[in-house]
Amino acid sequence: MIKAVFFDMDDTLYDTSGFAAIARRAAVKSMVHNGLKCTEDEGYDCLMEIVKEKGSNYDKHFNILTKEINGDEDPLIIVNGIITYHNTKFAMLKLEPESFSILLYLKSKGYKVGLITNGKENKQWEKLVRLGVYPFFDDVVTSEAAGVEKPDPEIFKIAMDRLNVTAGTSLMIGNNFEVDILGACKAGIQSMIINSKLTPEQKKILDESNYSVTELNSLIDLMKIL
Ligand SMILES: [Mg+2]
Repeated sequence: MIKAVFFDMDDTLYDTSGFAAIARRAAVKSMVHNGLKCTEDEGYDCLMEIVKEKGSNYDKHFNILTKEINGDEDPLIIVNGIITYHNTKFAMLKLEPESFSILLYLKSKGYKVGLITNGKENKQWEKLVRLGVYPFFDDVVTSEAAGVEKPDPEIFKIAMDRLNVTAGTSLMIGNNFEVDILGACKAGIQSMIINSKLTPEQKKILDESNYSVTELNSLIDLMKIL
C-alpha cells in the first residue's frame, strides 16, 4: 500500500524546459534590439551552446554570449538579457492545473507528499514558493542540501527516512528515465514516468532488471491508481 508519493519538480510538476526556452528567446530578442550583432536565431543557438557547455545554473551565460558575438562585454546588452529572461520566466511561472489538482487530491487522501529535486537549494525553493505549492509538500529534498543527487539511491533513502516511510510504501514520479526512474528503481521504489515515453532500449533495461515502471499520460491519471 502506497503511503508516500515523491515527485521530481522540473519538467514533472512544472514545464521548466519549455518556459526556459521561451524566456531565453525573449532575452536574446531584447539583446539583439539593444545591440547584439546577430539575428535572433543565431543568438539563441549560440546561447544554447553556452548553456549546454556551462550548465543551466551558471550565472554568466549572457556575458559570454555578448563577448562571443560582439567581441566585448557590453553591460547594457547583458542586463537587457538578464532582465528580460527573469521577467519572462516569472510571468510564466504558473503551475499546470493538473499538478495543483493532484497535489490537492493526494493531501486530501492522507498521502505523504515529498519532492526530490536535483538543483540548487535556493533556486528550487524559489520555484516552489513562486508556484505557491510548497505548503503541499511534507518534505523537500534538494541535491545541493542532501549532498548527493539523483540517480544515486542515497537521495531517495534520505527522502524516505525524513518522511518515515519505506521503499515498499513509496512511489516516485518523474520525467527523466536515468535520473528519476532508474534511481528510484535502484532504491527499491516503484516509479512512474511522465512527459516522456519509454524507448525500446529503456524497456529492455527495465525487463532485464525486473523493474516495473508505469507510463503516465497525465498526473490526473494518478487519481485512478491512488
Ligand atoms: Mg525533471
